[in-house]
Amino acid sequence: MSDLTKMSAAQLARVIADKQASAVEVAQAHLDRIDAVDERVHAFLHVDREGALAAAARVDAGEVSGPLAGVPVAVKDVIATKGVPTTAASKILEGWRPPYDATLVERLRAAGTVMLGKTNMDEFAMGSSTEYSAYGATNNPWDLGRIPGGSGGGSAAAIAAFEAPLAIGTDTGGSIRQPGAVTGTVGAKPTYGGTSRYGLIAFSSSLDTPGPCARNVEDAALLHAAIAGHDPRDSTSIPQPVPDVVGAARLGATGDLSGVKLGVVKEFAGDGSEPGVLSAFHESLEALVKLGAEIVEVSCPHFQYALPAYYLIAPSEASSNLARFDGVRYGLRVGDDGNRSLEEVMSLTREAGFGPEVKRRIILGTYALSSGYYDAYYGQAQKVRTLITRDFESAFERVDVLVSPTTPFVAFPFGSRTSDPYQMYLADLFTIPTNLYGGPAISVPCGLSEGLPVGFQVMAPTLADDRMYRVAAALESAVGTLTPPAL
Ligand code: GLN
Repeated sequence: MSDLTKMSAAQLARVIADKQASAVEVAQAHLDRIDAVDERVHAFLHVDREGALAAAARVDAGEVSGPLAGVPVAVKDVIATKGVPTTAASKILEGWRPPYDATLVERLRAAGTVMLGKTNMDEFAMGSSTEYSAYGATNNPWDLGRIPGGSGGGSAAAIAAFEAPLAIGTDTGGSIRQPGAVTGTVGAKPTYGGTSRYGLIAFSSSLDTPGPCARNVEDAALLHAAIAGHDPRDSTSIPQPVPDVVGAARLGATGDLSGVKLGVVKEFAGDGSEPGVLSAFHESLEALVKLGAEIVEVSCPHFQYALPAYYLIAPSEASSNLARFDGVRYGLRVGDDGNRSLEEVMSLTREAGFGPEVKRRIILGTYALSSGYYDAYYGQAQKVRTLITRDFESAFERVDVLVSPTTPFVAFPFGSRTSDPYQMYLADLFTIPTNLYGGPAISVPCGLSEGLPVGFQVMAPTLADDRMYRVAAALESAVGTLTPPAL
């Protein structure tokens, strides 16, 4: 493995700016690493060699500059990239090359980052293991027989395996943070509306939030700063300045948390977390106390209803968003032999193009939204969402951030949760409340349990993304970063 692939994004940016290495050399080193390990990891669905080398050459020619100029980045395949295949890991979009870039991709290009390719995921971002990808699962670099989390397992595995220093994920119920936790990397979900959804293939529009994946907190903050900020093309984008997340990460790295109050959610304590996860979490709390933080127990009584509310709201929105995949406008078309009706072609296309989890969500969502059931299911879930938001608001009157394990269990073996959808849904027990509320949250590695990474979650009030970076960086300064065994 080349030294260039071991460096952080911040180091790479410095090395390139000081001309100790060219951006093309950096891109080539990562492409070589992908060639060497991705057959085993399968983090990428598409590698854009030519595009990456051309973007790097533009940096070397001085055409673009900025704090991340020349730094490679991998992008989750649910985000539109002009001319580069974008499938959302679904057969229904096989071969689709978008005619436009997502806003965040435009911003990545303008910042001089070098896009290496598109990463694997659960189909349409529905899942917690990448086992629902139509193109085969991604393998966790820590143990190739285990899941890398999901839905954004490809992005997390790519950085854990040193195939890229940075990656973009999307978090609807935990798909940035849970993969971060189980691969020993950092994953941050910004405040909803803090990063643009324009060009993100919609799953659950009121929850979907793009964000950064990295091997350390400062790198995550640098990527966050590069993509965040108001976008007039997204009606839910927040027209306010982005908090100074990079400054906050650097402040946190000094290891001083005096006066910071951390709220431990009482209701999360007994929720079936593995003992090794709980002990890593409690040791981290002790480390944070040594840095000056104060621990306060808080009660969030409605968090226990977050999972059921999410599994009504997200499928309801998905059933509406996925109606556009009908074989007429783009992607797969099945049965169009001149003898079949439009409805038959649409139905055959959707039958062939969608996988089992996507179909399950469409059926669930259609049912929950149907007249007669709407008030009982979708309407109730929206009321629960309001109660969860109030729990957060009253907790944040007493504490600066809330903390918990990111996920109740470490990376599990392939096949161990696919037979029972509910077992898979439990992976997001601790991440989902934040999505329903809309605030920012980050997962940062906090130790090992049985040789596998454990994630520590920091949840902050909406628009206080800087606060979570500060606490996460402080924890990182105490416990260090994690590196998987050599591949
Ligand atoms: N695992 C959750 C789900 O399946 C979250 C997905 C996500 O955040 N995209 O819906």
